[in-house]
Amino acid sequence: MLESLKKDVLEIAKRAQRDGLCKHKSGNFSAKVDETGYIVVTPTGLDREAMSVRDMIVMNLDAEVIENESGLRPTSEVLMHIEIYKARPEVKAVAHTHSAYATAMAVLAKPIPAIVYEVANLGLTQGRIPVAPYGRPGTPALAENVIPSIREADCVLMEKHGAVAVDDRDIYEAFLKAAYIEELAELYHHALTANGGQEPASFAQDELQKWAYPSEITFPNSK
Ligand SMILES: [Zn+2]
Repeated sequence: MLESLKKDVLEIAKRAQRDGLCKHKSGNFSAKVDETGYIVVTPTGLDREAMSVRDMIVMNLDAEVIENESGLRPTSEVLMHIEIYKARPEVKAVAHTHSAYATAMAVLAKPIPAIVYEVANLGLTQGRIPVAPYGRPGTPALAENVIPSIREADCVLMEKHGAVAVDDRDIYEAFLKAAYIEELAELYHHALTANGGQEPASFAQDELQKWAYPSEITFPNSK
């Protein structure tokens, strides 16, 4: 069942690894089907390059396994994915990574301020990528701790752990947001370093909200 969604989740999981967002067996990905509330989630303990469509696991939001062709275990962090889908029913996909710069900021419990305009696309409400307090990976505490931050923003750092991004369209968009988190974390690191450790200036939330494709920009052969 859900073959096409399984394929999408698998492809993004592999791409995230190729792009350096998650190494080896770290990180996990899921996408939800609205009609049934089923989610397709990546398995645990398998090298992503060796993963196939049949290794993707279908679960419901009660954490019951609906289909598991390969018999692998779901990612140990699936509880977090489920709690996110419950807390934000519009969310269609979750991408969780341990990318280096984002995780370094998460180790420092340092929210990433809105230092460049691109953050306007990251679903922020407080002008920052917040940090969710530490919870042991795979436990209900981790899942619960992420929720207040994921209500604040589509992109969140998880203290001493990594990053999570959600999107209300699809897994590709959630993956892009995870990639932006890493890019921003790297920029922020360089800005802090170049500035002797002092905070760079950042945008306030109301400025971010004003951003849209500028009406001043027009092209001669289109509107
Ligand atoms: Zn993790």
